Amino acid sequence: MRPNSLNTLFRPVTALPGVGPRIGNLLEKLTGPNVVDLLWHLPSGLIDRRRMPKLMEAPVGEVSTFIVRVESHYPSRNKRQPYKVICSNDTGRLTLVFFRARKDFIYASLPTGSTKIISGKIEKFDGELQIAHPDYIGDLEDADSILRVEPIYPMTSGLSLKVFGKSVGNVLNTLPILEEWLDLTLFRTENWPSWDSAVKAIHSPQSENDLDACAPARRRLAYDELLANQLTLALIRQAAQKQAGHPIAGDGRLREKIMTGLSFSLTDSQNEALTEIESDMASEYRMLRLLQGDVGSGKTIVSIIAMLNAVESGLQAVLMAPTEILARQHYSTLLKLAKGIELRITLLTGREKGKVRQAILNDLKSARINIIVGTHALFQEDVIYADLGIVIIDEQHRFGVHQRLALTEKGKGCDMLVMTATPIPRTLMLTAYGDMDITQLREKPAGRKAITTRVVSVDRVARVVDRIQDNINKGNQIFWICPIIEELQSQDLAAAKYRFDYLKKIFREHVGLIHGRMTKNEKDSVMSDFNKGKIKVLVATTIIEVGIDISNATIMIVEQAERFGLSQLHQLRGRVGRSKQPSSCLLMYKKPINGIARKRLEVMRSTNDGFVIAEEDLKLRGSGELLGTRQSGLPIFRVANIRDHADLLSTAHKDVDMFLKKDPGLKTKRGLALRNLLYLFEREIAMQNLKSG
Ligand code: ADP
Ligand code: MG
Repeated sequence: MRPNSLNTLFRPVTALPGVGPRIGNLLEKLTGPNVVDLLWHLPSGLIDRRRMPKLMEAPVGEVSTFIVRVESHYPSRNKRQPYKVICSNDTGRLTLVFFRARKDFIYASLPTGSTKIISGKIEKFDGELQIAHPDYIGDLEDADSILRVEPIYPMTSGLSLKVFGKSVGNVLNTLPILEEWLDLTLFRTENWPSWDSAVKAIHSPQSENDLDACAPARRRLAYDELLANQLTLALIRQAAQKQAGHPIAGDGRLREKIMTGLSFSLTDSQNEALTEIESDMASEYRMLRLLQGDVGSGKTIVSIIAMLNAVESGLQAVLMAPTEILARQHYSTLLKLAKGIELRITLLTGREKGKVRQAILNDLKSARINIIVGTHALFQEDVIYADLGIVIIDEQHRFGVHQRLALTEKGKGCDMLVMTATPIPRTLMLTAYGDMDITQLREKPAGRKAITTRVVSVDRVARVVDRIQDNINKGNQIFWICPIIEELQSQDLAAAKYRFDYLKKIFREHVGLIHGRMTKNEKDSVMSDFNKGKIKVLVATTIIEVGIDISNATIMIVEQAERFGLSQLHQLRGRVGRSKQPSSCLLMYKKPINGIARKRLEVMRSTNDGFVIAEEDLKLRGSGELLGTRQSGLPIFRVANIRDHADLLSTAHKDVDMFLKKDPGLKTKRGLALRNLLYLFEREIAMQNLKSG
């Protein structure tokens, strides 16, 4: 249970004074549902209203504050003309301008002859100094509340800074005082403020320096967040390791048969990975291992061999993929490999329903199935395994830590291997997979041709089309990707359809379209036509990004490439370059394109190494947007920023490591304080591990 001291922070935002359903909705959209979420919405700038220059010398384009006498009103004569109020003081004249003004309101707030304090952005129009719609109009006794530094926050439309600032102010006034959870030595050497002072400081910056990621308050809160992250992962790991696993060591009979049927031999990287995996499986603890390898590095065969190891020992194995297409692909790979081998393999996705599904479930429960491949459907409540030895999760980046945990629950004590092609920089690795051991496949199977990448403007589409024609004549196949970004779904989909129609006019029946809104049958039939070569150009959204293995395709065209995350582009590019033919990738951007976007595409052009790309992307954009989408499965930090706070992450990692050795149950004074921290950052999931552990 969450301690009472935190309750004020976990009320809905509508519990704040002045926040009704409308503002509540906006706040929730901007920051999150609870009061505490407002605290993590950080100022991005500030306005210094303490400046009171002489009017004659007021800097144009900047915000200043003035004390003036109201001289005269000039109401607008028609809708297009503004309402003007002339003011002055000893240092000059100032015109206040209001468009589409409410006359009575202006009369009431600026009576002729009164003295007022006005704050707003100074502009020069027809040689006159003016402020259009001042931010503040007050009386002299309001001076203190106006003459201050005001934080600026990223806003959403319909919500004003004033309303947001007031709401944050209300939260800050009722902050609980919490027991310090930091290691005291660190706290003192860093000379950090306490949690509540840090939160207050972060929301009342006095200068640009206070907005910097290195400002003490920001660093402290970033550390808090990273500490919560590392503690969560460590607790999960601690709990998982307590569960006894099956020591699995098959006799190799199935693996041998599969190996002899392979048309290639394993790379050194693959062999090393298998050695690690087999030794994990043989141990009495559960395996929790991440297999990270660039697209095309050959993770699938490694996972198959691991599954066979379990089957040889009389246990069942599960291979879960994030999409149905991918599950089917794995299933058919397995069937091909297992030809002539005594092995019962089944597919279970959302599509197997009713009696078919029931029959599969019965077979699973009575151990008539050795290997089952599928999607999420594999882990619904009524799916019961006779004796599950190993769970393989492919393309982990589509699943977050929460899903991973749900699966761990299902396969209590069974070994788990998750696979990802997302090349995650070393620092980020710790934030996402601190609970797992890691194996990397850095080496690619021999004989792969490098992919040539070019970057062109979409204006050149006609020339691109010519080249496609040449390639079709040569028998090559082409992917043509259009972005679908969640927020713009319908608009984006229209763009993909538009491109399809355009290409259809040229290439007729050789063009196909596939996107997420199609039914499963429609998607299957398109994919199968592409596989068979009936379709030469496949216009697709990013649904084909993960894992799809079509070795004929040699050209990858990505439209509006600047809108994708680099890792995502790398994934897409990895869909080609799988055949003996040379492959190429064409990144098309839409003008105008900014400097960073240009540099990012340039990184793509200059290297094929996913790890280098990930590091560069991190440098150029920071981790928040590293993968372009929120589906990355990487934690989204609200205060911490991996680029600026990487040093804090490793400190937090070590801190947690040392502390849990002394207090694994979080029972000491600091342990109890750390529980508060977990709640603050909504890591309840970690608390569950504490209880069951
Ligand atoms: P990914 O790591 O992206 O999942 P896959 O497992 O799909 O990669 O492998 C990509 C392709 O490489 C497959 O067609 C697979 O059969 C092939 N492959 C895997 N290992 C080797 C190897 N050692 N030598 C040659 N080809 C391999
Ligand atoms: Mg794969």
